Amino acid sequence: MAERTGQSGRTVLVTGASRGIGRAVAVRLAAEGATVVVHFGTDGDGAERTVAAVRRAGGRGFAVRAELGVDGDVETLLAGVEAVLDGQLLDVLVNNAAAAPAGPLGVTTRAEFDRLFAVNVRAPYFLVERALPLLRDGGRIVNVSSAATRMANPAQTSFAMTKGAVETMTRTLAAQLGARGITVNAVSPGATRTPDNGAVFELPGLVEQITALTALDRLGTAEDVADVVAFLASDAARWVTGQVLDASGGLFLGPRAA
Ligand code: NAP
Repeated sequence: MAERTGQSGRTVLVTGASRGIGRAVAVRLAAEGATVVVHFGTDGDGAERTVAAVRRAGGRGFAVRAELGVDGDVETLLAGVEAVLDGQLLDVLVNNAAAAPAGPLGVTTRAEFDRLFAVNVRAPYFLVERALPLLRDGGRIVNVSSAATRMANPAQTSFAMTKGAVETMTRTLAAQLGARGITVNAVSPGATRTPDNGAVFELPGLVEQITALTALDRLGTAEDVADVVAFLASDAARWVTGQVLDASGGLFLGPRAA
């Protein structure tokens, strides 16, 4: 039986919850008693593992499939969400799904560039638009950005541009939706090793290099980020809106020693 805490009786949609940070967010909010709609694109088995973890944590979980970045994406997702919620309103929308970096200028193709923007920017924008009638007054929108927006990393230019757009959307929608008591914030992870992206960090020396640039001296975990999302989704964050909250352990803050 779930402990009656912050999200008890509330409904949450987490996009991209078939693994990684999205799964950790789903499980974290489930532990507070939420009903979680676990969105996924292709990995149905992963989504079912998240649903099982959500239930073990004490929440209710349902998987909904929708490929984002294609025509009809948001309509497909919302139809699935509405079927699961069965007349209930949505309390929290977490825009977490994103396509991965597609390389630097000169490498990113036009097709990859368009896809990055379709998945990372267009989909959350129109998901918010379409979800508004379903979202409760006083509800929460949390967008997952990236510390890449405040670093000049040429390897991730096009990806960082998409997250810059997400942060701008966060501020402007916060101004628009405040009248309904809806807060809109973003969480900005740094290098985060999840149970599913370990291969990214296998490059020899990479972990040491990132760690040396991180004030808190380690890589992040999915749970580190999920806790920050949970804060912004909670009543405790009721007076915070339009903000980007860095959850990178102090990646690239500056020199670590005088
Ligand atoms: P991940 O392991 O790559 O997982 C991405 C999730 O998004 C999966 O559930 C995937 O679902 C879904 N997704 C991706 N493209 C999709 C599409 N076209 N349609 C539908 N679903 C799609 O990502 P992560 O590392 O957990 O990162 C989660 C968020 O944090 C992202 O916004 C990412 O940019 C941000 N972030 C991560 C890091 C990091 O170091 N991990 C750092 C900074 C920011 P399917 O596989 O089922 O399709």
